Amino acid sequence: MGVKTQWMDGKMLAGLRKEKLAQEVAEYRGQGHRPPGLAVILVGEDPASQVYVKNKISACQQVGVSSTEHRLPAQAQPQDLKELIEGLNRDPRVDGILLQLPLPQDLDEKEALGWIDPSKDVDCLTAQNLGRLLTQQPLTLPCTPKGVMSLLSHYQIPLEGREAVVVGRSQIVGKPMALMLLEAHATVTICHSRSQNLRQHLQRADVVVVAAGRPEFLGREDFKSGAVVVDVGIHRRAQGRGLCGDVRSQELEGWASALTPVPGGVGPMTIVSLLENCFRLYTETIGQN
Ligand code: NAD
Repeated sequence: MGVKTQWMDGKMLAGLRKEKLAQEVAEYRGQGHRPPGLAVILVGEDPASQVYVKNKISACQQVGVSSTEHRLPAQAQPQDLKELIEGLNRDPRVDGILLQLPLPQDLDEKEALGWIDPSKDVDCLTAQNLGRLLTQQPLTLPCTPKGVMSLLSHYQIPLEGREAVVVGRSQIVGKPMALMLLEAHATVTICHSRSQNLRQHLQRADVVVVAAGRPEFLGREDFKSGAVVVDVGIHRRAQGRGLCGDVRSQELEGWASALTPVPGGVGPMTIVSLLENCFRLYTETIGQN
């Protein structure tokens, strides 16, 4: 007999969370405070990044966060980026600074992230905020793993004592994801491009989060029946045939117990987590004034 598969609807949940956030922002505005402010920096012309930035800015408008977009050419010098970030660090209307990654090859991402004031680090990418995460006193949580945790919590997916596998070990998704699952008391395995026997690890897992950036590379035979599978990957199919994830999720209908669609799963949750983080930084600042 097949398993009943629950599709975890990130678009719906993100919509609910945006409504709640819009109310909270309106309450602060009603008390005479300025709006929360997000500054988004885009260096170069990467088409995917341009779409992400556009979506983030339009989401800000929906909840009353005031956003500004700052563009630098692909040939920008490190000093140009440093001066831009330092100006935003000083700007009292800016609560969150988002540096859209990846940066063009000639710019060093680690160095550039280090220029962001940790109190404005809206995606939890600075060493200080990652350290706070590790020591269980986070200011913000990295947006994508935060969004995944919100989805798992909304759909009441039990994590305590369960086997979780994270596929991918990037600074922005895989590593913090593993840490957050660990905080939720799962037994966590991290797999990556040099892991051997990926399938063996996956077949033990009750919960899998896939963030490998490889289009549709996992299918039904990779997972145990009843597993919960969260697909972080986003890829544009050739010839305008829409988007897909890292998992061939249609194969998992009737096999996995819960699944995220692409699009409409983790993507919208990442964006709402960004807005929530910006609001969190805003309330910290407003509270201090
Ligand atoms: P990345 O390229 O920085 O990291 C990919 C990771 O996957 C690496 O750690 C690598 O070791 C691992 N990997 C690659 N091939 C593998 C394999 N065959 N087996 C096991 N591990 C493998 O990517 P990232 O920034 O973490 O993003 C991953 C994917 O998630 C991309 O498709 C990206 O577009 C997407 N993404 C989506 C959102 C969202 O909001 N939905 C947010 C961030 C990233």
